[in-house]
Amino acid sequence: MSTAVRIDPETGLKVFNTRAAKASEKITGKGYSVVTDQKLTELPTMPAGATFNAEEQAKYRAFKEARRGAADYMGMEGEFKKYLDDVYSEPPIPREALTDECEILVVGGGFGGLLLWHKLSEAGFTDVRFCEKGGDVGGTWYWNRYPGIACDVESYSYLPLLEEMGYVPSMKFASGFEILEHCQRMAQKFGFYDHCLFHTTVEGTTWDEASGRWIVETDRGDKMRARFVILANGILTTPKLARIAGMEKFQGESFHTSRWNYNIDLRGKTVGIIGTGATAVQAVPELAKIVGQLYVFQRTPSSIDVRDQRETTDEERETWANEPGWARARRARFARISEVRAAVLANDDYLAGKIQDFKERKKHDRELSREELMQKQLDSSFRLMEQIRARVDAIVKDPKTAAALKPYYPYGCKRPTFHDEYLPTFNLPHVHLVDTAPRGVSEINERGVVHEGVEYPLDVLIYATGFQWMGTSTFNRIRGRNGRTLTEKWETEGTRTFLGLHTRGFPNLFIVTGPQGGGGSFNFTDVIYAHADYLVWVLQTMRERGARIVDVRKEPEDKYAEHCRVVDLATAPLRDCISYYNGEGKAAPGSLAYYGGRQWDKFRMEAQSSLEPYVFGGDPN
Ligand code: NAP
Repeated sequence: MSTAVRIDPETGLKVFNTRAAKASEKITGKGYSVVTDQKLTELPTMPAGATFNAEEQAKYRAFKEARRGAADYMGMEGEFKKYLDDVYSEPPIPREALTDECEILVVGGGFGGLLLWHKLSEAGFTDVRFCEKGGDVGGTWYWNRYPGIACDVESYSYLPLLEEMGYVPSMKFASGFEILEHCQRMAQKFGFYDHCLFHTTVEGTTWDEASGRWIVETDRGDKMRARFVILANGILTTPKLARIAGMEKFQGESFHTSRWNYNIDLRGKTVGIIGTGATAVQAVPELAKIVGQLYVFQRTPSSIDVRDQRETTDEERETWANEPGWARARRARFARISEVRAAVLANDDYLAGKIQDFKERKKHDRELSREELMQKQLDSSFRLMEQIRARVDAIVKDPKTAAALKPYYPYGCKRPTFHDEYLPTFNLPHVHLVDTAPRGVSEINERGVVHEGVEYPLDVLIYATGFQWMGTSTFNRIRGRNGRTLTEKWETEGTRTFLGLHTRGFPNLFIVTGPQGGGGSFNFTDVIYAHADYLVWVLQTMRERGARIVDVRKEPEDKYAEHCRVVDLATAPLRDCISYYNGEGKAAPGSLAYYGGRQWDKFRMEAQSSLEPYVFGGDPN
């Protein structure tokens, strides 16, 4: 069948276009606005000579070791399942269960799904069906609607398909609401809605060797068949809760930041928020504007760099309107940035192509050894963190609060955050930082949080406790050849993929932006583009060769996994702290994110020219 749309014979309506009406009228809050006070938008200067010496290294080590083993998270199951409810949409529209077949089934209707649809349909692959847990498109930007939400990669490089949509974001760091609307417009324009089952969670994906098809089962009773399955369900999708004794007893209102409950009126209330990662950093300044009292329960401070938000200028709009290819060129320039901080700053002159590079390259008399280069990078990370710590002192008036807000770890080992209003918030009389370092909040009772014998009664408790990194929960529900799940394979052999996209024994299954999946830069959209282009190439190559099945050989998979391990270990000192990036200090090197930068392209190009890693198979059907 050429399209995934099915028509109800009785009503004549599509049976799976179950997009639920959005109950969004109560949603308020914008991305943070432009701040003009220069003291807040510039880092204090730092003497150039500061080095990451033995004393400072010991301080970092102590900071890290004090937190080892403190992270204790749990999924939202049993009585905590309520935290997963979709508060943004009407309940799902009843529909019949589907048992039909499509060529390509994609899990996820976020950036990945939308971009895949655009690329696949352009290449002539139109028999594609999407399954999306939420009531609309957007993925991350569907679920995360907390006040203050904005992207933290510059929006001109981050939002996909800007030129195709004829759209220019309103600000350098667009609000999450603007991004969600962009997703909805993309879906509308490219006919995505006709191909997507909303409020449909894939619960089982099983390879059927005899028919060369995947059997895909969902929570709506569907049992569909697909030749190819693409997992585009994101990297930080499944929300998690801190496991805290007594949390089930709390009698007030509570929710997780990724299901922000706008039905609860926070005005004038006493509100507590647990967690101070990237989400809390954006939400806290907005919360402080409306609540009566705000208690911020912090275990580890984030690094709060300057944001320097700005509006898109008329000149930019005019230039881009007359410059075909501007967005692609900008994204490509962004992808060449190899330093976290430079990606954060996103120098406009460089990204607009007005200057070749954004910093002078220092000439060295000789090539630096690997150790020397590492020390140099650690020193510059240290100096930057000194500036970030000095910024805290310059802004936060209470010395005890300021001391607690200072992070001691290398820049970027936890998600670097940026904000020009977060630190000043702690000078407000109704905002209280509760420092729970190094073990975190460990008790909750009927009334609120208890820490070190002090009770903090709350009307509302907000969990800003993050997400599972790299979607491992999904992988235990995918059964490949020999009935083995992906989790079982990776638990016994270690994480093994080729390019992060294929994994042997799971033919015709592709993982977008999963473990070991490189392909770009600090901009995940770039990675999605790279993966989508690659998948179109795989499908076209198969079409040309008359192949129906693709798997990968053991040797290239082992070699690639070893490469992932080596590049992770080589750069690990730069990320030496307890973080979700390294599975809270427990992940095997090379098993999660990819740290090889552009080397991924080398692996990809070699594979595409030799075809040596692939095993192509025919199929009688
Ligand atoms: P997160 O970074 O995982 O933060 C979770 C927070 O909860 C951490 O501060 C953690 O402290 C804290 N925590 C956990 N258990 C605790 C306890 N018992 N007591 C006190 N604190 C506790 O989650 P997130 O802030 O939602 O961000 C997740 C990721 O989403 C980000 O890193 C980023 O990649 C992405 N994000 C992006 C944007 C954007 O692009 N604009 C915005 C928001 C989020 P520890 O650090 O000590 O573990």
